[in-house]
Amino acid sequence: MRFFDLHCDTLTMSGLLKKASLRQNDGHVDFVRLQSAGAIAQCFAIWIPTHRCAQKYGIKDSPWEFYEKAKCLFQKELQKSSDLIAPALDIEDVQQNTKNRLVSAILTIEDSVLLSGSLEKLETLYRDGVRLMTLTWNYENSLGYPNDREEAKTSLGLKPFGKEAVLRMMDLGIAVDVSHLSDGGFYNVAELSQKMHIPFLASHSCARSLCPHPRNLTDEMLHTLGNCGGICGVNFEDSFLPGTENHLTKIADIVRCACYLCDHAGIDAVALGSDFDGIESKLEMGGYEGLPLLAEALNKKLPASQVEKICYQNAMRFFGAAIH
Ligand SMILES: [Zn+2]
Repeated sequence: MRFFDLHCDTLTMSGLLKKASLRQNDGHVDFVRLQSAGAIAQCFAIWIPTHRCAQKYGIKDSPWEFYEKAKCLFQKELQKSSDLIAPALDIEDVQQNTKNRLVSAILTIEDSVLLSGSLEKLETLYRDGVRLMTLTWNYENSLGYPNDREEAKTSLGLKPFGKEAVLRMMDLGIAVDVSHLSDGGFYNVAELSQKMHIPFLASHSCARSLCPHPRNLTDEMLHTLGNCGGICGVNFEDSFLPGTENHLTKIADIVRCACYLCDHAGIDAVALGSDFDGIESKLEMGGYEGLPLLAEALNKKLPASQVEKICYQNAMRFFGAAIH
């Protein structure tokens, strides 16, 4: 089986904060394991630590300085491992890299705090090769608000600059990611997506009906996402999944959630959004090397053609439509 994973925190957590090599390390993801386990493409998020998280990791850089450092590290690590992996800016690059037996690395951003209200910064990010960005992380920023357990907070929509930024992202070809966003913001993005005929995604979220965490999407949101041609990447973190025990994510829990997402968003709307290296729970599958076990377990529940859609084909189709 081949795999296309929409979200990992490897670049920030292993690369920048732990100063580990991205070619080979003790975390969930490295280039050697991506290649040997069958990766077609991996989205590498630059997660921007702010507020308490910046303090926790002793980060003094501004979000933009932090981004620049992470981007340079990404480029340097890819150059050092050009026998295994190459950057991809669009779906044609992914196809070409696949022909050359190389994994594709897609640069993404987690938290548009980076923009600090400037549309020009979006243009710079696009020129730098960024092709997907979450609008928020867990704090309010110049675009909008994060999801929250309190109805009054999560119903807040995008700010005027947030709407402007979404339109510009869709225009440029940076995929709009609603993972972490407020419910109100989600519906604003869905409206803009329908207007622009450009799909959006939730790169690493699960189903709220199965596990009542505000990071997850309601059945109605899943339905809306599927209707817009979007995708939802199932997250492997135990606090977003049903049935997990002892802080351990079992493969069966991920399968159950993936099947539920298929039933409510549609078989064309489900993908992988592991959150590798950003997950705090232990994983039965270990790290990326265990993805073939997940494919095997999915194969017991779904026809092979549907498992292929979840593991890589839906993500390929989405990137073909959202990125140009
Ligand atoms: Zn996240």
